[in-house]
Amino acid sequence: MTMRVREFAVDLRTPLSTAAGDIERREGLLVAVDVAGETGVGEATPLPGWTESFADCRDALAGLAEDDATGDADPESPLEDGTLADAPAARHAVSLAVADARARAAGRPLAAALDTDPHTSLPVNATLGDDGPEATVEAAETAVASGYDCLKLKVGARDPTDDVARLRAVREAVGPDVSLRADANAAWDRWTADRFLDSVKESVLDLDYLEQPLPADELDGHAALRRLHDTPIALDESLSAVPVGRAIASNAADVLVCKPMALGGPDRVRDLAARARDAGVAVVVTTTIDAVVARLGALHVAASLPGDRAHGLATASLLDSDLAADPAPVRDGRMRLPDGPGLGIDVSAVFP
Ligand SMILES: [Mg+2]
Repeated sequence: MTMRVREFAVDLRTPLSTAAGDIERREGLLVAVDVAGETGVGEATPLPGWTESFADCRDALAGLAEDDATGDADPESPLEDGTLADAPAARHAVSLAVADARARAAGRPLAAALDTDPHTSLPVNATLGDDGPEATVEAAETAVASGYDCLKLKVGARDPTDDVARLRAVREAVGPDVSLRADANAAWDRWTADRFLDSVKESVLDLDYLEQPLPADELDGHAALRRLHDTPIALDESLSAVPVGRAIASNAADVLVCKPMALGGPDRVRDLAARARDAGVAVVVTTTIDAVVARLGALHVAASLPGDRAHGLATASLLDSDLAADPAPVRDGRMRLPDGPGLGIDVSAVFP
């Protein structure tokens, strides 16, 4: 294997406020590996809280490139031998680059190299921010007019009855056929989540699911919410905090929200999805606001999985700049897979 690494930064269109502070730009590392006679690319755009820091990611990748000074290191060994166990973003970049190169060598899109019968396009959800009812309804109507039939609302920053009022206003505006999700980003305790879910039931909101109402390590609490309420529960933050086997075994989720770039790569998500499927748990693939290479990787992984739930991949519009033109823009609430081999992007476009 020959490995090259280059740093990049992309700016967000508008700063995104998160629990960990405002994000104005995303800094990452692109990896190119030569495997099986082809060059594949991968991306690490670390997000502390979900992954290692940028510095730790850069060090991990620099270490690999050094080990590979002779160019004959086995590309799979750092993925298997635990070298990158504490660096999921770095592991994602290498795993994606190797998978991309192998798919290119096979002359197939990455999704088709991962699964014999992949989707050729996928529904994606629009994410609505944390505005008041009027602005939320306006954003919902705009999204539905442009073709989305699944909307995700951020909740948890206000009283749960006010969040339910926002959801009810959106439901009234968009009608019964649009699927609604709520993401609390671990903001609540049991009492607050119970109040929210009781109010959701009274309002007949018919949510697709409530995502991560409780702190990441509270699997028993999420399992109790599933037992006591009708609304399906999804786990997101929990998957970066506890082993996935435990999340599944505790009956804490109807849906697992999987970010390949935080979980260590496409192979990790495929393994996780197989275990989830055996337990009757659905998988939705999302991103951490990444550049085009990682977004395409997530799109191919999502397309390789069964099921027809909308994925959380429509995050390109959050960026003001990108590494290259996006070959899979959102149209009518869906993303179509690029036709070309591998990720479907020219390596020379991102690795000049
Ligand atoms: Mg989430």
